[in-house]
Amino acid sequence: MLNYSVDAEGIATVEFDYPDKSQNILNAASMGAYADAMQKALADPAVKGIVVASAKKDFIAGGDLAELGAATDAAAFHASISAWHKLMRAIELGGKPVAAALNGSTLGGGMEVALGCHYRVAADNPKARFGFPEVTLGLLPGAGGTQRLPRLAGMMAAAPLLMEGKRIKAAEAQKIGMIHAVVAAGEERKAARQWVVDSLASGAKPLQPWDAKGFKIPGGGPNTPSGMQMLMAANAMLREKTYDNYPAPRHILSCVYEGLSTNLDTGLAIEARYFTNLVMSPVSKNMIRSLFFGMQEANKLASRPANLANPVPQQKYSKIGMLGAGMMGAGIAMSTATAGIDIVLLDTTQEAADKGKDYARKQWSKQVQRGRMTPEAMEALLARIHPTASYADLAGCELVIEAVFEKREIKADVTKKTEAVIAADAIFASNTSTLPITGLAEASVRPANFIGLHFFSPAEKMPLVEIIVGKATSDATLARSMDYVRAIGKTPIVVNDSRGFYTSRVFGTYVSEGMALLEEGVPPALIDKAGLIAGMPVGPLALADEVSIELVHKIAQQTRADLGKAYVERAADRVAAKMVAALGRLGRKSGAGFYDYPADGPKHLWPGLAEQFPPRVGASALRAGDTPSGADNEAMLSLEEIVERLILVQSVETVRCLEEKVLRAPIDADVGAILGWGYPPFRGGPIGWLHTLGAAQSVAALDRLAERHGPRFAPPKLLRDMAARGERFYPA
Ligand code: NAD
Repeated sequence: MLNYSVDAEGIATVEFDYPDKSQNILNAASMGAYADAMQKALADPAVKGIVVASAKKDFIAGGDLAELGAATDAAAFHASISAWHKLMRAIELGGKPVAAALNGSTLGGGMEVALGCHYRVAADNPKARFGFPEVTLGLLPGAGGTQRLPRLAGMMAAAPLLMEGKRIKAAEAQKIGMIHAVVAAGEERKAARQWVVDSLASGAKPLQPWDAKGFKIPGGGPNTPSGMQMLMAANAMLREKTYDNYPAPRHILSCVYEGLSTNLDTGLAIEARYFTNLVMSPVSKNMIRSLFFGMQEANKLASRPANLANPVPQQKYSKIGMLGAGMMGAGIAMSTATAGIDIVLLDTTQEAADKGKDYARKQWSKQVQRGRMTPEAMEALLARIHPTASYADLAGCELVIEAVFEKREIKADVTKKTEAVIAADAIFASNTSTLPITGLAEASVRPANFIGLHFFSPAEKMPLVEIIVGKATSDATLARSMDYVRAIGKTPIVVNDSRGFYTSRVFGTYVSEGMALLEEGVPPALIDKAGLIAGMPVGPLALADEVSIELVHKIAQQTRADLGKAYVERAADRVAAKMVAALGRLGRKSGAGFYDYPADGPKHLWPGLAEQFPPRVGASALRAGDTPSGADNEAMLSLEEIVERLILVQSVETVRCLEEKVLRAPIDADVGAILGWGYPPFRGGPIGWLHTLGAAQSVAALDRLAERHGPRFAPPKLLRDMAARGERFYPA
């Protein structure tokens, strides 16, 4: 756990060396070992000074998230944090010089261990990053980070590190005063030891700046004019960005404001309370589960089929085919080329195929202009993209993905032409967003090798791929497809075939609910604001414009044609039909949707909406702060209920996906929603949110909504059964 040695000159080295892990992490065990070692060194008269170091390639990666995620006893947690603060103060005030040798990345609790030393020297290691990622998982740097960093660097420089989790390189860390020196890699221990030797020779008592007489916060404290101005702006910006859905950055601001208004010890006591509050909050539990553990499992391909009798070896890819060089095809080609894989980009004409490659050139040129890529690197990437109109060029591809027009006949045609040239064991994948894979596979002569790889737009940027398993898709095809998704650095979730699969189906309910609210007479500005307040990145009407109202209309028509009598018309179908067929407002791409898109200014809601979808009596008068009265009150929806509808409509559809086995596991739903359509991480995901509410309370809320707004909210049997049995989706 920790190596302890004392050399001939009485300098102790305390070396973090977490067993059986590639990284040092801080948890009860390693923190306990550190406390023991430091207390021993401080108490031993033979020890004159201390060097803190790491036996791994990095210093410390941060806190143990499994332990933090599982913590449920607030009092015990608060006590352990307070004990840690006491130890750090004992080190700072112990009279022996302590230097940290930071050989690599030093993050979170690791950075706090370092800040608790008198001197910090980092290796000039280009891979090393320094900072506090806690806020990205709903936490705060709770081992003194919110107090020590701004006292060293000033509140202004500390803000992006503490509140956004920004990670910086050694040189920048030195510039802001977070570390003292940067030396050639491999020299950092020697430099740390030399500082200890020099400090001893000077005869001065080693002290942290805040313990020295006359200490002043760099740039001014919270109660100086500049400090107040900075905090006020930070508060407003935070509110605007997060609608106060995320307690962590708010608590961090409070720690800085309250803690820096007083002395360090009181500040640490303040931080300990805010930290305990966050660790116990459902928000951090949700974020840790979905963003950390869920994502980690998905990226490790935990659900890759494991046929032990006949394991599928990991597939290496060297040549991929891409059918359709449109928006999606070009983006997928970029991701594939970036992974070092050659890609044949096929379209109906050479010119159309070239256009796809031009798109890649345009995007990468921007990176070159920003200095993020060299021109040579761009040319090397472009050389991997081979535009063509000839199917013969697909020979030798291990996988071919189609992203041609969303038309069954066209997709069937390109499937047949491709299978005529590719090897018998090659995979054919469709990037369809709506057409069931099993049906598309009917055009294939080897449906076992046919699969859905659903990318999101823009494909070169979006991190998720929804893998859809058709009825005939083999486990080997699934396993090999997952290998491709990982090879291009994206995160896969695996779902079974269904109309709209998982992501489009559930994401669609959010857009549809917004359109239903419009038909009910809720003012459109309120609908889109409610979406943002709910934590979604874009309001539902603005989103409908982005994906195009025409697409919503087309999908409704196709579903109606496919389902016949079983089709149930929704409010959104009527709204889309009116907008597209009657009013010719197709969405952003036509410059006219729920919003107008003037060439010379920002978009704004189309004034004609009020005539087409008259606001209900009273609703038009609703403004923030207004309290409707009497009959208006009866008829009107509260903002809370609008938010609840926009969120729970997604959750209830997700439970249906679980019940119908479209989804294989709740965590896939949560990871897919957050990465796929920007579902608010603080809720954990559509299932994470029901987990937070509890099954019984979820059922009660859904029953109430179903009674008022229709059966789309009716709780599925799966959820009712869970409520009856007192079950939860995830461990408590
Ligand atoms: P797009 O219109 O931008 O591109 C389609 C391309 O396919 C065009 O370049 C067209 O020339 C080409 N094409 C048409 N018929 C062809 C044929 N027979 N052979 C070869 N090329 C042909 O469309 P897009 O947005 O890239 O969407 C493509 C597919 O991806 C669709 O199935 C769509 O549903 C799906 N998809 C789209 C999105 C999205 O957000 N746009 C997201 C996920 C999936």
